[in-house]
Amino acid sequence: MKATKKEMIYEGKAKKIWSINEDENLLLAEFKDSLTAFNGIKKSQELGKGALNNKISTQIFKILETNGIKTDLIETISDNEQIVKKCTIIPLEVIVRNIATGSLTKRLGIKDGTVLPFALVEFCYKNDDLNDPILNDEHALLLNAIENQDELNYLKNEAKKINSILKEFFIKKDLKLVDFKIEFGKDVDGNIILADEISPDSCRFWDAKTNEKLDKDRFRQDLGNVKVAYEEVLKRILS
Ligand code: 5GP
Repeated sequence: MKATKKEMIYEGKAKKIWSINEDENLLLAEFKDSLTAFNGIKKSQELGKGALNNKISTQIFKILETNGIKTDLIETISDNEQIVKKCTIIPLEVIVRNIATGSLTKRLGIKDGTVLPFALVEFCYKNDDLNDPILNDEHALLLNAIENQDELNYLKNEAKKINSILKEFFIKKDLKLVDFKIEFGKDVDGNIILADEISPDSCRFWDAKTNEKLDKDRFRQDLGNVKVAYEEVLKRILS
């Protein structure tokens, strides 16, 4: 579809969100080349990263839609732009983990690389000033981050479904889906839909044979070849 930008309504670390002249119920998401970590403390630019994430996320959202997950994606219209359904983002980061690494190992002392006996779902409060703290169901309700327990249960179930679909998909591409962060929004009709993006910025992917990291940990841990890794993920997804 043809879309012309009207007004920038939000700029985050990885995307700009615009209203468009053609439809007030749709928005344009522009993927940026900026790379950030540790709540924006570490910053860099990687030319072409936005386009890679746009392509990767588009493909993943399409796979999820095919498998019955409702998402905000309408159409990807250029290298780094997509048209999405307008929705109000629920201020919870939903994290699903299959293998222990990152903050889980630090918080609970679980050995890095431990395969978890079940997919672990966690919620973090989307609040940069507070450093996105982890919270439980009652905290989420207390903060009015979500309306009720049924909606929280829905997020958990949807996150587990998304994990099952993607874990199976990625292992066929020789990638272990270690963990990922997703966000949900409520559309104008009040339906909860998957929003934001799913990309190497928000997931951890390890090569199934070598455990080589193919995600933003390459930037977080100064491992180099960030873009090469993202390109490899895209290549495998499209293969
Ligand atoms: P951890 O809690 O171990 O730092 O992260 C768990 C997973 O969620 C990782 O795949 C990580 O990339 C993702 N994640 C956690 N917080 C954020 C965030 O604020 N932004 C993005 N893009 N991903 C996040």
